[in-house]
Amino acid sequence: SLVGTGFGVKGIFTVASQRVQVVVDLPLFGAFTYLSHFDVIPGQRVAVPFGTRQLCGVVVTGIPPEGLPETQLKEVAQVFDALPPLPADFLAMVNFAAAYYHFPLGQTLFTALPTGLREARDIIPPDERPFALTAKGEAEAPPARQRARLALWQALGDGALTQAQARQVTPQAGKILADWLAEERIRRVSPERVPLELGPAPHLNDDQQAALSALTAQPSGFQSWLLHGITGSGKTEVYLQRIAPSLAAGQQVLVLVPEINLTPQLVERFIQRFPASRIAVQHSQLADGERLRNWLDAWQGRADIVIGTRLSVFTPMPRLGLIVVDEEHDGSFKQQDGLRYHARDLAIWRARQAGIPIILGSATPSLETVANVEAGRYRKLTLSQRAHGAARLPTVRLVDTRRAKLTEGLSDAVIKALASRLERGEMSLVFINRRGFAPVLACTDCGWTSGCPRCSTRLVLHLMERKLRCHHCGWEEAVPHACPECGAPDIKPLGEGTQRLESALGRLFPSARILRIDRDTTQRKQAWDEIYRQVHAGEVDMLVGTQMLAKGHDFGTLSLVTVLNADGGLYSADYRASERLFAQLTQVAGRAGRADAPGEVLVQTQWPDHPLYQALVAHDFDGFAASLLQERRLAAFPPAVYQALLRADATELAQANAFLTQVRAQVQPLAEEVLISGPAPALMVRLANRERAQLVLESPSRQALHRFLDQLPPLLDALARQHGRGLRWSLDVDPQEM
Ligand code: ADP
Ligand code: ZN
Ligand code: ZN
Repeated sequence: SLVGTGFGVKGIFTVASQRVQVVVDLPLFGAFTYLSHFDVIPGQRVAVPFGTRQLCGVVVTGIPPEGLPETQLKEVAQVFDALPPLPADFLAMVNFAAAYYHFPLGQTLFTALPTGLREARDIIPPDERPFALTAKGEAEAPPARQRARLALWQALGDGALTQAQARQVTPQAGKILADWLAEERIRRVSPERVPLELGPAPHLNDDQQAALSALTAQPSGFQSWLLHGITGSGKTEVYLQRIAPSLAAGQQVLVLVPEINLTPQLVERFIQRFPASRIAVQHSQLADGERLRNWLDAWQGRADIVIGTRLSVFTPMPRLGLIVVDEEHDGSFKQQDGLRYHARDLAIWRARQAGIPIILGSATPSLETVANVEAGRYRKLTLSQRAHGAARLPTVRLVDTRRAKLTEGLSDAVIKALASRLERGEMSLVFINRRGFAPVLACTDCGWTSGCPRCSTRLVLHLMERKLRCHHCGWEEAVPHACPECGAPDIKPLGEGTQRLESALGRLFPSARILRIDRDTTQRKQAWDEIYRQVHAGEVDMLVGTQMLAKGHDFGTLSLVTVLNADGGLYSADYRASERLFAQLTQVAGRAGRADAPGEVLVQTQWPDHPLYQALVAHDFDGFAASLLQERRLAAFPPAVYQALLRADATELAQANAFLTQVRAQVQPLAEEVLISGPAPALMVRLANRERAQLVLESPSRQALHRFLDQLPPLLDALARQHGRGLRWSLDVDPQEM
C-alpha cells in the first residue's frame, strides 16, 4: 500500500513513491537512498529510519542508484516542512566544502546547520509578521455572542496586530487567528521596516577615503580586496562606510571576525552606526535558541548584517551583496577538527559564486593573501597612518639578552621600563609567547639550529628519549653534546621558562595590580566584559598574557608593551612559526600608543640581528613578507605548494605508523605530481591519551593534489578496518598546524 506509513501526518502525499537521496550526520561518505511517499525536494529536512534509530536527514540532489529493489528500501518517515527547504546556494556551498575538504557530505551539512536544525523535529519559526483583515474579513463581522472574536475583529479594524499583540486582546487569539487565516479573513503583512538611519561617522583621512572610493567604485561583481592597514589605521571605519551603501541598496552583508575579536566593543560600533534590529550576531557562545533565531533571521532576510565567527560563513543570506573578513590572517578561521575548513577561503569561494566583492582586512595579511595580491588575483588597498588624532606607531626596541644581566628571566631594561610606568600610573602589557611548544635546539654562540638533513624543516627535541626528530619526513638522530658547527657546549632548547617569568613579575612588583589574560581566564561568558571594565576603569597596572593579547583589542592608554620569550618562533619546527610570530608581535605592539600617549615596545631576544626583529623595528611588513615568501618558494612550502596531511592516531604511536606505512605503500602508485613524506610523529605526539602521526601530501598543482585526495577515503576506510577499531584517520586540506 502506498498510503499510511503511520508517521505521515505532514507533507503532501504523492500518488507514486519516489526514490530520494538522503544524508545523515554520520561519518559515512555518500548519501542513502530512501523511498518517499511525500513530495520532497533537495534541502528538505526529513526523519529517516537508520538501523534501529530514527535520524534527522536532509534530502540532497543526486540521482538515486538504479537496481536496488524497492522492497529493500526504507521509507522516509516524516517531512519537516514548517521551514522551506534549505536554499540551493547553501547546498552548493556544503557540496563544495565536502568535496574540497574530503569530508563526508552528511557531516559537512550538519556542521553547517545550527543545532536546532540538526535534530529530527520540526522547527516552527515564530512568524513575527502582523495580521491584517482582508476585504472578506472586513465585510463580515463575527456574531455578537462570540465576544472574543468580535473584540479581536474590532481591534484588527484599527490596524494590523502581531500574534503577541492579538493575545493581549484575547487569550484565545492563537486559535482564532489560525481559523481566520485558513478562511482568508486575515492575511500576514510585512512589518514596517526600521528605516536605515545611520549613526554619525567620522570624516575619513586620505588613505581611508582612497580605499573607500576604490571599493565603492566597484559595488558589484566578484572581486577580492586586501585592505592592508597598520594597527589602528581605521580599517573597521572603512568597512562601516562601505557597508552603508550596500544596505541602502537592499543587500545583506556578512562580516567574519576571529573567535576572540567578536567583542561587545565591535558589535557596539556596528550598532552605533546601523539599526540594531538589522544586525544578527553568530558565535559559538550563543545559546542554541538564539543562534537558531539569528540564523533564521539571516536566511529569511530580516537581518541585513551578520557578524560572526567562522561558522557563520555558511549562514544562508538570500540578498548577500558584500563579505568582509576582518583579521583575515587569524588562525581561528581554520577549524581544527571535524570539518577542517578555512572560513576565509570558503568566504572567497562564496563571493565568487555569488558574484560579489569580498574585503580581507589585516595589518599582517597571511602569506597566501600576499601571494594572491602578487599574482594579481586580489587588489590591494593600503592604510599607512593611524586614524586617531596624533596616535603614531610605537617605537620598537630590542633588548639583547645574551649580554644583559637577567633577574629571573627579566632584563634590567624591561624591569626599569615597567617600574617607571607603574610609578606614572600607566598601564603596561607583558606578552609572553607560548607558541613553540615543540622545542628546537639552538647554539647561542653561532646561531646554529638543529635542522633536518633530508628536508628544510627543523628537528624537534624529545628530551625523554634524548632524540631529535623531523616532524615532516620522520628523520631521527641522537641529541649532540656540543654545537656541531662551532663546538660550543652551550646548546639549549628555544622557548623555555615561561611559567617562571609569570611568577617573577608578581615578586618584582608586589604592589602592581596584575591581570592575567589567557585561555583559562577568558573561558567564561562575559569574561571579556569584565576585563574591559577593569582595564578602562584604570584598575589594572599590568596585563600579562599569551596569544590572547595579540588580537585587535583596544585597551585604551597603554604606553608600554614588553615581549618575553619570543625567540621560540624564530627557529621553530613549524615553518609557519615566523609568519605567526611577526603577526603576533605586530598586533601586540599595536596595542601600545593607540590613544594619544606615545607607545614603546621592548622585545627581549637572544637574536637581535634576526631579520624578523629588524623588520619589526622598521615596521616593514611588506619587506618581511616578501622575504618569507621567497623562503617558502625555495623550500617548497605553502603557498608555493599545496599541502594536505593524512593524520592517524591510536593508543600507540607504532600502530598509527604501521597504518600510515601501509597507506603510503598502497597509494604511492596513484600519486602523480604528488610528493608523499612520512610517516612522521605529529608536533604534538600525544594528545588526550592518543598518539598521532602523519603523512604529508604535497604538490605544486592544487588540481593534482585533489585528484589524488579524491581517491583516498574509500581506500583509507578499508585499510583502517584492517588495523582495528582503535585506529582513527583524518585528512586535513591546507593544514595550518603540523
Ligand atoms: P583598525 O580596525 O584598523 O584597527 P579602527 O577602525 O578600530 O582601526 O580605528 C582605530 C581608532 O580610530 C578607533 O577608535 C576609531 O574610532 C578611530 N577612527 C577610525 N577612523 C577615524 C577617522 N577617520 N577619524 C577619526 N577617528 C577615526
Ligand atoms: Zn654553535
Ligand atoms: Zn625531514
